[in-house]
Amino acid sequence: MMERVLISSCLLGLKTRFDGKDSFDTLLTGIEKRYILIPVCPELLGGLSVPREQATIEKKDGCGFWEENIPVVLEVGKDISQSFRKGALLTLDFARFLNVKRIILKDGSPSCGVFTTNSSFKKIRGIGVTAYLLKKHGFLIDTIESFLESNF
Ligand code: SF4
Repeated sequence: MMERVLISSCLLGLKTRFDGKDSFDTLLTGIEKRYILIPVCPELLGGLSVPREQATIEKKDGCGFWEENIPVVLEVGKDISQSFRKGALLTLDFARFLNVKRIILKDGSPSCGVFTTNSSFKKIRGIGVTAYLLKKHGFLIDTIESFLESNF
């Protein structure tokens, strides 16, 4: 039976990004033939809508969010940490329910970033809020590129 892999919905072509667009990546073509890809969007699970205002981790990254209570904010300064926390926890529940081991995430996002994320509206080296939680609970998280490097 083909292995199930959870994936950021925008990478699969679903228009769930804050700006109403997707982040479809043609590199997925090879992966789709060998794995069952199940989409998830932590920000929508957290109750946010499309389109929505861009969010950023106020400073630091997803590690700072969980371990040091650093908030996620909108440009106007509104704290939306609760939505990010809820979305991350529901994504963790979903991953456990599906019994997946590996998860492919969209790099650069304040939720899904694997190697880079968004902090103070800038791209920084660091991990997103959901990505950190998934990693902390033992899931293997990858970008499409790192997934390809480790599996093909
Ligand atoms: S939260 Fe993750 S899955 Fe949802 S649009 Fe942003 S990067 Fe894509």
